[in-house]
Amino acid sequence: MESPSRSSVIIVGAGVSGLSAAKVLIENGVEDVVILEASDRIGGRILKQDFGGVSVELGANWITGVGGKESNPIWELAQKWNLRTFFSDYSNAHFNIYDQSGKIFPSGVAADAFKKAVESATQKLKKLEADSCYGIDTKAAKPSSTPKTPLELAIDFMLHDFEMPGGDPISTFLDFGEREFLVADERGYDHLLYKMVEEFLFTSEGKLLDNRLKFNKVVRELQHSSNSVTVMTEDGCVFEANYVILSVSIGVLQSDLIAFNPPLPRWKTEAIQKCDVVVYTKIFLKFPSKFWPCGPGKEFFVYAHERRGYYTFWQHLENQYPGSNILVVTLTNEESKRVEAQLDEETLKEAMGALKDMFGHNIPEATDIFVPRWWNNRFQRGTYSNFPHDQVVRDIKARLGCIFFSGEHTSERYSGYVHGGYLAGIETGKALLEEIEKEKERSIESENQTVSLEPLLATTGSLSLTQNETMLYRVSNAIFLDNCI
Ligand SMILES: Cc1cc2nc3c(=O)[nH]c(=O)nc-3n(C[C@H](O)[C@H](O)[C@H](O)COP(=O)(O)OP(=O)(O)OC[C@H]3O[C@@H](n4cnc5c(N)ncnc54)[C@H](O)[C@@H]3O)c2cc1C
Repeated sequence: MESPSRSSVIIVGAGVSGLSAAKVLIENGVEDVVILEASDRIGGRILKQDFGGVSVELGANWITGVGGKESNPIWELAQKWNLRTFFSDYSNAHFNIYDQSGKIFPSGVAADAFKKAVESATQKLKKLEADSCYGIDTKAAKPSSTPKTPLELAIDFMLHDFEMPGGDPISTFLDFGEREFLVADERGYDHLLYKMVEEFLFTSEGKLLDNRLKFNKVVRELQHSSNSVTVMTEDGCVFEANYVILSVSIGVLQSDLIAFNPPLPRWKTEAIQKCDVVVYTKIFLKFPSKFWPCGPGKEFFVYAHERRGYYTFWQHLENQYPGSNILVVTLTNEESKRVEAQLDEETLKEAMGALKDMFGHNIPEATDIFVPRWWNNRFQRGTYSNFPHDQVVRDIKARLGCIFFSGEHTSERYSGYVHGGYLAGIETGKALLEEIEKEKERSIESENQTVSLEPLLATTGSLSLTQNETMLYRVSNAIFLDNCI
């Protein structure tokens, strides 16, 4: 058997958080880093795919939080690398709400229902804040009026599942602003990550050639003590290091993909299990021709159905890719899990049913469909953390000996977002740098103590002390000094 490869730090996961942590370490002189990534690419939940002749984003799509008092770091990177972005004006979406007979709700009725939903959400939040204590079940707090009609249900879905400004007072909106920009760039959202990686890993002509970044390495076991870690991968490789940064998703931590030896303490596993994980699915449909309204204020439209979240929120891509004839419909949570479990033909039939209700039976059939399966992906198990309580985040993030936890779910203010993952990675990288510095100081101190003992030990024939002997010496010396005073 080959001897295990040894480095200072192992980073598990090459999503935005793992990569930003690696950047901090490598740029600050900790160069013997190994990044183990389960899949065959970087980016994690930032993932593009060719569909219907254009590049679509299966994962993160928006840069959320632009135009506020602080600058969103992902927006800065997008500007730096000229990413093609489009302002998303959701304000008209609630004037494009269709009922099941294809009629659009009058704007006054929709605006009124929207206002009521915002008021109800605000009241719910105030109550939550008043009741706030560690571990509160936020799902148990019911809004003051429960949405019942298809219109109310559709608006409730838009506000909460689509996270529109005006719903929850999300710190991203408070700090970075309420504007959102859709990334629609043939190079993909992950272009930002490739450009970032070029700054600290060896690349050539866009190819990642640095052997510190290892693909198809599925971490299955992590043996840890206070000062070292051994990581075992599915293909039988063993990696050793002084520290590990675990940047896998919260869904992976909740699953049994990675075994910890010794097991994680109870307070840690409880916090991990307490974190609610959203499943958010964008289904892409390609048509031979357009049949939906385009033009100003028509980018988003809504289907009001008696089942909450049933093919509710739609978007066309004509602004970004004219003539692409692509529609995207967003499903979440139970609806996402349901469609992941069924054949795509079934999903296509359901989506076409919703479209026929809205636009009539003469519309053309879709020629292609793509249904991402984030819930059933064992390297994700969901799409992002759902605004976990601060204390839950702190417990998930808390360092355990040589294990540092990172990822979007460890960001206290921006969990769930790309910028949350990016900033969490930077924070973890800096915390580890600080620890490495402290460890260096500790070992210099203990070396100095050993050296100062040398003349004394020469008479005993031993020139260095074991750790236990040093400890014994320190204790007896302290007693000796105490006795001298
Ligand atoms: C459908 C969807 C839509 C989204 N929309 C937006 C949006 O519009 N705007 C926004 O800001 N954010 C959005 N997000 C959230 C955003 O993508 C994430 O918050 C962010 O990318 C998370 O980065 P991360 O580094 O924390 O995790 P990840 O990107 O998940 O990185 C973790 C990495 O760990 C790897 N891994 C997992 N298990 C193992 C293992 N055992 N061994 C080795 N490697 C492993 C994974 O393959 C992955 O590459 C969306 C996410 C999804 C899925």
